[in-house]
Amino acid sequence: MPYGMNILVTGGTGFVGANLCHRLIADGHRVICLDNNYTGSLDNVEDLMNHPNFSFVEHDVIEPWDCEEKLDRIYNLACPASPPFYQGNRSIFTTKTCVLGILNMLELAKKHGARILQTSTSEVYGEPLMHPQPEHYRGNVNPIGIRACYDEGKRCAESLMFDYHRHEGVDIRVIRIFNTYGPLMNPEDGRVVSNFICQALRGEDITIYGEGQQTRSFQYVDDLIEGMVRMMENEHGFVGPVNIGNPGEFTIRQLAELVLQKIDTKSSLVQRPLPSDDPTQRRPDITLAGKELNWAPTIPLSEGLDRTIAYFRTKLGL
Ligand code: UDP
Repeated sequence: MPYGMNILVTGGTGFVGANLCHRLIADGHRVICLDNNYTGSLDNVEDLMNHPNFSFVEHDVIEPWDCEEKLDRIYNLACPASPPFYQGNRSIFTTKTCVLGILNMLELAKKHGARILQTSTSEVYGEPLMHPQPEHYRGNVNPIGIRACYDEGKRCAESLMFDYHRHEGVDIRVIRIFNTYGPLMNPEDGRVVSNFICQALRGEDITIYGEGQQTRSFQYVDDLIEGMVRMMENEHGFVGPVNIGNPGEFTIRQLAELVLQKIDTKSSLVQRPLPSDDPTQRRPDITLAGKELNWAPTIPLSEGLDRTIAYFRTKLGL
C-alpha cells in the first residue's frame, strides 16, 4: 500500500471514523478528520490531536469544503448511523447529509483527482426477501417509512458515486457495511450492542425490541477497517459495491443472553415495542469480498464482545 498519502476522513470523530483515523495514522498517512461532532466526539481522537500527521476540521459535509494540500484519498463516513439519531426531527438532515454530503465529496474528489470510498450500508437491502444478501440483490426498501431518510439517502449516494464514475471519471469504491460494534462506540448511541452492554454494566433492564427474534450479523470494528482499507487500496479497479460484514447471524435475544453470560449483573430482559420497518433478518453474503479483496472477518462475536465490554467498563468507570 502507498505510504504517506493525504487522506480525508469525513465523519472522523464517529465510532467507525475514529477507528479508521487511528489505523491510517498508524500506517503512516497524513489524516484530515472532518466532522460536525453531531454524533461523533473529539474524545475519540483526543490521543491523535497532537500527532504531526493528524488535523481536525469542524465542518458539516452538507456544505462544500476544500483544502490547499492535494488529497489522495477520501473516505466518506459522515452520517449518523443509529436509528434514534437519524430519524424523527433529524430525518431531513439525514437525507441531506447522505445526498449533499456525497455530492460535495465527489466534487472534491474530482477536483483533486482523489480516489473516494463511500460507506454504504446493508440498509440498501431494506426488509430483505433474499437471504443471505448478495450485492446483486436490489433490496426491498419502504421509500416512505421512518428509516427511508437513511436507506434512500444511502441508495441515492451509491447512484451518485456510479454516475460520477461513469460521466466524470472519478475513481470510486463502494462498500456496504453490516452491523458493526467495538471500542469507541458512544454508550448513548442507542444501537443494540452498546445498549445491551451498558445496560448490563449499569444493572439496568436489557431492552429487547419486539420478541427479539429478528436477526443481525455483528462485525467487530477491526475487521471492518481492514476490509475498508483493502477496498480503497485494491489496484485492480474493483469499484464494488461489496458487502463488508460478518456472516455469523444471531437473534437479538441470543445477543442479550450472550451479554448476560459475560457480565455479572442484576439486569433482566424486558420487552419494548418493535420500531416500524425494523428488518426481520440480516446476513451478508461475503463471497465477493473474499474473491476480490481476499478479505473475511477474523474476530468472532464472543471475542469481540469481550473487547467491547472491557472498553465500556473503562469508559463508564464500572
Ligand atoms: N434493538 C433492541 N434493543 C435495543 C436496541 C436495538 O432490541 O436496545 C434491536 C432493534 O430493534 C434491531 C436490532 O436490535 O432489530 C439492531 O438495532 P440497531 O439499532 O443496533 O441496528 P439496525 O436496526 O440499524 O440494524
